[in-house]
Amino acid sequence: LITVDKVNKAFGSAHILKDVSTCFHEGQVTVILGPSGSGKSTLLRMLNRLETHDSGRIVVDGIEVCDKLKELDALRSEVGMVFQQFNLFPHLTVLQNVCLAPMRVRKTSRAEAQAGAMDLLDRVGLRDHAHKYPFALSGGQQQRVAIARALAMTPRVMLFDEPTSALDPEMVKEVLDVMKKLAASGMTMIVVTHEMDFAREVGDRILFLDKGSVAQDATPQQFFGSQQSDRIRAFLGQVA
Ligand code: ATP
Ligand code: MG
Repeated sequence: LITVDKVNKAFGSAHILKDVSTCFHEGQVTVILGPSGSGKSTLLRMLNRLETHDSGRIVVDGIEVCDKLKELDALRSEVGMVFQQFNLFPHLTVLQNVCLAPMRVRKTSRAEAQAGAMDLLDRVGLRDHAHKYPFALSGGQQQRVAIARALAMTPRVMLFDEPTSALDPEMVKEVLDVMKKLAASGMTMIVVTHEMDFAREVGDRILFLDKGSVAQDATPQQFFGSQQSDRIRAFLGQVA
């Protein structure tokens, strides 16, 4: 579904991603792990053009991710993204947050967008909160709204960048549970997280980034198994 071929990225003199090549397959949950600064967020953000790449190719569902801004809306419709900070629109209700993009970008009618949004809010357990404003919700609830909002565009792939890192511990589970359900429904997902239990249980595959390169591409069994490299053992020792 997504092909990344020899992608490089530098910020000034700092070479952040080095010849990164990988594929993300339909229906798979890929968990990206790696130390801080290894380029995880940068790689994720390139997939929906929140960040440009300097060289190499990225193709998302047949869309060549490059300077042709013409297809940017199409790309962003295919690729949903959920951030660490939920980034909800504070002046809009939960329902309006979820309806906005389908109405603006897909030109869905208000009635249709609202019906779809209520279904999604149901899926994330927030139907009763549709008419509240974000400030009236807990962090976990806001993050679930952010997931519903991304899903409202019926994306083919969902990107998550540390979706539970800004949450109080008691709210982490409700968000991970929604993500698990989404994975079980067959959604293609790419998830940057420090939740190792999630990586092990839900991940089909672990991509370990180190200093801007793919240092390991393995199944969770392999990755968390006993044959780890010293580098990965050191990393797991730090996050555990
Ligand atoms: P973390 O686990 O801390 O989120 P990460 O793996 O997501 O780290 P990135 O955010 O991709 O790492 O950043 C990789 C490197 O690129 C870091 O050294 C960071 O300082 C640098 N970087 C990221 N974005 C920019 C930017 N817009 N301008 C300059 N440098 C940047
Ligand atoms: Mg990051």
